Amino acid sequence: MFQKDEYCILILGLDNAGKTTFLEQTKTKFSKNYKGMSLSKITTTVGLNIGTIDVGKARLMFWDLGGQDELQSLWDKYYAESHGVIYVIDSTDEERLGESKNAFEKMISSEALEGVPLLVLANKQDLENCLSVPDIKTAFSDCAPKIGKRDCLVQPCTALTGQGVNEGIEWMVKCVV
Ligand code: GDP
Repeated sequence: MFQKDEYCILILGLDNAGKTTFLEQTKTKFSKNYKGMSLSKITTTVGLNIGTIDVGKARLMFWDLGGQDELQSLWDKYYAESHGVIYVIDSTDEERLGESKNAFEKMISSEALEGVPLLVLANKQDLENCLSVPDIKTAFSDCAPKIGKRDCLVQPCTALTGQGVNEGIEWMVKCVV
């Protein structure tokens, strides 16, 4: 029987960034028979949400890990298995942007993630007071040396409506396959 190539993609970011909403939207868009849960019922991830989609010949397995302080220490247990990372930022939460940058910087400093493509989602672009992609790039600019030569895209996104989801996933597929 025809076997698909499987790739593990981590979905990381602070709690409340929109990781679970993004995963639900991805499953809804890419899995034909997926009915999905009501997006308004999603609450912040405690533990782990998983999901699988098929795109062309690739099967992507997503691991959406909890973003609270005490759960961030579990992220690195998954690094060795991962082929790509999606890092979700709440673009409206300027107060926690520094905290998000620190978690991002710690994550990309891990040797286990060297060379692994990074999709950064500037999420919640539907809200009026959101930071733009250039604003976020500026706030994260001192991470650039640690990103190094690995593929990295900062994608504007509204997980709630699905805007930017296809573009992000298609970019990730091109990088990992
Ligand atoms: P997680 O903790 O990172 O998994 O975040 P959730 O997916 O649980 O989302 C946290 C909150 O942000 C929920 O109330 C979501 O409805 C809301 N949210 C997520 N994405 C968006 C978005 O693109 N726009 C808006 N306005 N709200 C969003």
